[in-house]
Amino acid sequence: MAENDQEEVELRSAEPIKMSGRPSPFLQAVRAPQDGEADWEYGRITEAQPVEGIFPVVGGYVDRAGKFHNMVHLRATSGEEEDIWSDMSLPFCVRMNEVLVRCVKRYGDITNPGEIRQAVLGSSQGTRLDMLLYLRCFSNYEDKGWIYKMDVECGSIICTMAESAPFSVDVNLYDVGRYDSPHPEQSEYEVVLPRIKVPVRWRRMTPAGDQIVEAVAAREESRKDVATWGVVVRLLDYDGKDVSVGLDDVLDKTGRVILGYGGRRSKMKPRGVEAYKLVKKMATYDRDFLREQFMDSEPSLDLEVSAKCPECGMVNRVRLDLNQSGFFFPKATSALTKRTFSSLWTVGG
Ligand SMILES: [Zn+2]
Repeated sequence: MAENDQEEVELRSAEPIKMSGRPSPFLQAVRAPQDGEADWEYGRITEAQPVEGIFPVVGGYVDRAGKFHNMVHLRATSGEEEDIWSDMSLPFCVRMNEVLVRCVKRYGDITNPGEIRQAVLGSSQGTRLDMLLYLRCFSNYEDKGWIYKMDVECGSIICTMAESAPFSVDVNLYDVGRYDSPHPEQSEYEVVLPRIKVPVRWRRMTPAGDQIVEAVAAREESRKDVATWGVVVRLLDYDGKDVSVGLDDVLDKTGRVILGYGGRRSKMKPRGVEAYKLVKKMATYDRDFLREQFMDSEPSLDLEVSAKCPECGMVNRVRLDLNQSGFFFPKATSALTKRTFSSLWTVGG
């Protein structure tokens, strides 16, 4: 961490570095194409990359040499990332990861694109969400990108009966509570389940884990099991036996969760079924204990939002929903499908 000290002092304000205005005459000369249409060419270049900034994230990444990194240099999103965001056929976490991998220019000391990918995908969910919020804040800097106008459906009886239209609430993304873990450089933990007295090894939520939980939440038939899968995807060993699951153990080639894992004629791979059954049968006392461990040890964001309904005045407590089209396209009035996707953000419900 010592090497990062100077950087941290400089950048603690988390103010994005804004690059705008006209270039110096020297830069203009360098960039001017031979035919003399310098202004047009310059406009295009600056539009492609208006802002970037370096931010300290919750959690972080430990590389193979054991070095910890938690300062992230991000560049603003461009058209290519917007295309990824618009592809609603991809799960939210896949789009999030892909956009982050592209927009992270440096992660601590890591600058090699392949290693950056590994580092981003090796970071826990809270860390990636933190990067995503920063990215949103300054990618739309000119339009007060830190204010997210989120749509909320009022849950009061009056509004539900009247089928009232969703209302909009302003969420200041800089104000979202960020909780670092007590040991950010640690990603695996060993505990003993208090009821059954069995040793368990678990790891922080990984991108593969995200994807599995999101796939489970996306299907009507499996949605009820989100809490169970939220535990399954974090487990590594149970009583000394490897019970970790990967994407292939649970999802089909199209990324959908394979159903029938609870019944006799399961089509899911045995590894996935066994891990699921193990956690499903686990005593609530032990499951709650594990969930508490997850919450205490994982870097996370406080994603609860209070939103007062302008119609009936009821204060709705809702989860920050980053999957609304307005999150990355604040000005767009596009008809992108809106899907509420609260389940991903909970530690298993
Ligand atoms: Zn209402």
